[in-house]
Amino acid sequence: MTAKPPLTLYLAAPRGFCAGVDRAIKIVEMALEKWGAPVYVRHEIVHNRYVVDDLRAKGAVFVEELDECPGDRPVIFSAHGVPKAVPAEAARREMVYVDATCPLVSKVHVEAERHHEAGRQIVMIGHAGHPETIGTMGQLPEGAVLLVETEADVDRLQVRDPDSLAFITQTTLSVDDTAGIVARLKARYPAIEGPHKEDICYATTNRQAAVKAMAPHIDALLVIGAPNSSNSRRLVEVGRAAGCGYSQLVQRAADIDWRALDGARAVGVTAGASAPELLVEEVCDAFAARYDVTRETVETAVEQVEFKVPRALRDAARPQGAGARA
Ligand code: SF4
Repeated sequence: MTAKPPLTLYLAAPRGFCAGVDRAIKIVEMALEKWGAPVYVRHEIVHNRYVVDDLRAKGAVFVEELDECPGDRPVIFSAHGVPKAVPAEAARREMVYVDATCPLVSKVHVEAERHHEAGRQIVMIGHAGHPETIGTMGQLPEGAVLLVETEADVDRLQVRDPDSLAFITQTTLSVDDTAGIVARLKARYPAIEGPHKEDICYATTNRQAAVKAMAPHIDALLVIGAPNSSNSRRLVEVGRAAGCGYSQLVQRAADIDWRALDGARAVGVTAGASAPELLVEEVCDAFAARYDVTRETVETAVEQVEFKVPRALRDAARPQGAGARA
């Protein structure tokens, strides 16, 4: 029997589930326990096929829009947040609904409203078409929020009043790219108001920092996550920008391109905020089947953040009638 080649597997810490994803999944599971199946979920609760398939098997039904849900079953809004019109429509239809928007996304919604009430036009740094961007922009009337994705977009902005502006950001952006866009905004509009740095959440920041710390040690980086997961895609880019020539997104072990890893002696593994640890283990096992693996952990932060699920789900009793916001 040929000896397996040696390989060091560097595992990023923190990686995988964040407090917002954990809470959103718990909300669906508790809603299924409380109301029985089916429970409807508007949009993928979090961007991970494994998680979605698991919840679907337990009785969750995933839809894209509220009008696909019957009025007599509970509906849950995903962790990314929804435009204000969505809960308003659910209430109008007297549906039972639970909002699983991550509290850190809700915090940005509140910021946006505060600036709007103060009469400021808002510039949002985010990705067009991402559900979080749609949800955040949808907190305010059409036209109140301008979207920029790049520094070049900042140069093209046409604002109402340069002295009455504020910026907010999507929570799952690249820390470094966003710093460049914020600097450009501040250079062009010195009076612009905004958060101290940006609104990127702790989980996104920590996962990117861990990838940067492991980059000098590795020949290749695998990011476990879904193609529509913004924070996972940013981890791939951060790996590349930190000098890792082969930085690849994989959904599961079966996606690994082993030929591309030929000759690698050290491989980094991390997981986006919506990827369960079970998939990390699956990837590690796949490496162990081919290599004589030594595991190393690159820990740059310890996370202890936890978000509570809404009270109505924690209580055993059914909510009082329809139209209840759990
Ligand atoms: S990635 Fe950040 S904002 Fe998104 S759910 Fe997780 S903690 Fe919340």
